[in-house]
Amino acid sequence: MIILKTPREIALLKEAGRIVALVHKELESFIRPGITTKEIDIFAENVIRKNGATPSFKGYQGFPGAVCVSINDMVIHGIPDKRKLKEGDIVSVDVGACYKGYHGDSAWTYAVGNVSEDAKRLMKVTKEALFEGLKQAKPNNHVGDISSAIESYVRKNGYTSPYDYTGHGVGTSIHEDPMVPNYGIAGHGPLLKEGMVIAVEPMVHMGKSDVIVLDDDWGVVTADHSLAAHYEHTIVITKDGYEILTSL
Ligand code: MG
Ligand code: MG
Repeated sequence: MIILKTPREIALLKEAGRIVALVHKELESFIRPGITTKEIDIFAENVIRKNGATPSFKGYQGFPGAVCVSINDMVIHGIPDKRKLKEGDIVSVDVGACYKGYHGDSAWTYAVGNVSEDAKRLMKVTKEALFEGLKQAKPNNHVGDISSAIESYVRKNGYTSPYDYTGHGVGTSIHEDPMVPNYGIAGHGPLLKEGMVIAVEPMVHMGKSDVIVLDDDWGVVTADHSLAAHYEHTIVITKDGYEILTSL
């Protein structure tokens, strides 16, 4: 069931989104070679809690971290641990914060020091794919319009996306209906309506679309170990388009 949000709820979702955005802003200068993924986790959790929110992912279906930290060929759901970032890595950090019962969800991929031209291009295309999708976010379009725009942009650039992981509705739960896949057919899927809040989140692989789930039951890596990037914003559908909730 897709829940349309009231203006009061949207205000709370906006505050949750602002806190998530603040975490990403602070991570930009915090992320550097030599720090561990656990240090990123602790840093992010501190920013979330300092702002009166709680980390959405901590304990979610048993996830042990406050945020997901995924290096290089890891697409999503990396459990923070003792692994250190190295110069040339790319690292995706997925941040969820819950403020007064409402969530915000946004992922960003960061370059650790200097990265290869290939990695830069992957990150750029993934971020652009997010905004190609968002261009389709308006009332009376369908979820499939967003999905199809992301898929064609990713393909046009010679990359792929995993099939089993998608964007989603956001509200009093971090994951609600509808699913927002990164592939689809324009004109299909649920109709977008004013007050719908969704997370749009292209995950993009440099190689093939196949993924493997690690033995920890969380980390998702590309089967061919090609690099992966992930950009996500939570948005609300407005009268004539959309507004990003997870930006400052
Ligand atoms: Mg996320
Ligand atoms: Mg999400």
